[in-house]
Amino acid sequence: MTSNFVVLAMRKHWCCVPLFALSLIISPVYHVVLSQDDQRTIERRAMVDEQIIARGIKDKATIKALLAVPRHQFVPSNQIAYAYNDRPLPIGFGQTISQPYIVAYMTELVAPNPRKKILEVGTGSGYQAAVLAATGAQVFSVEVIPELASSARQRLIQLGYKNLKILNADGYFGWPEFAPFDAIIVTAAAASIPPPLLEQLADGGKMVIPVGSPFFVQTLMQIDKKGDQFESKNLMPVRFVPFRRSE
Ligand code: SAH
Repeated sequence: MTSNFVVLAMRKHWCCVPLFALSLIISPVYHVVLSQDDQRTIERRAMVDEQIIARGIKDKATIKALLAVPRHQFVPSNQIAYAYNDRPLPIGFGQTISQPYIVAYMTELVAPNPRKKILEVGTGSGYQAAVLAATGAQVFSVEVIPELASSARQRLIQLGYKNLKILNADGYFGWPEFAPFDAIIVTAAAASIPPPLLEQLADGGKMVIPVGSPFFVQTLMQIDKKGDQFESKNLMPVRFVPFRRSE
């Protein structure tokens, strides 16, 4: 009834008919795209409220970055439904994107801001690197698996991050060309702290690194460089994928 009326009314304005027909075709598609986007934004807000703020993360830049970075675009398509869940997820090649809380915890520790240069070892999906970059920090991230390095690079370019560089190399050696770094975040568990990373830490800089065997619970450690001294402390038990060495 209503549509008959619309069509009749439009007879007087024939130029409107193609536009009307086009809007009928486009609007359902447009509607679905929009509501999926809204759905992810709601899930991300809930993730930040329930997993990040409720567990004590206070740093405003960290919270803002976790709200801004679309985590669902960093996971394989069969994992999108779980992207905002409270756990790590597989990203291929036996690797994982870390649990959101761990990403927030490590980010808050290094207090990123636009004046800081930060090295990440273990780019993986590129999510932690994107969170750091979303604070305005200059981010340098090294990934040992070539396929992961190139897919993360592509994803981060597509998402528009400019203050971020990715290198496919063994992160044991850091990224000497851009050292020293105000902070270093390592996202794979090493048996011991690689000496080149300690050397590339700036005076007053901070490293966060999981240390221990890949088969047991590891310890997340914080290393502060003061002059030529290093102070270390154990933060909490964690479980990360192993630090690999390139052949
Ligand atoms: N930060 C990632 C989590 C990645 S899991 C994210 O946000 O998705 C750990 C990553 O460290 C894996 O991709 C693994 O390939 C990488 N890795 C392990 N050993 C490495 C090394 N020696 N140098 C660089 N990357 C390494």
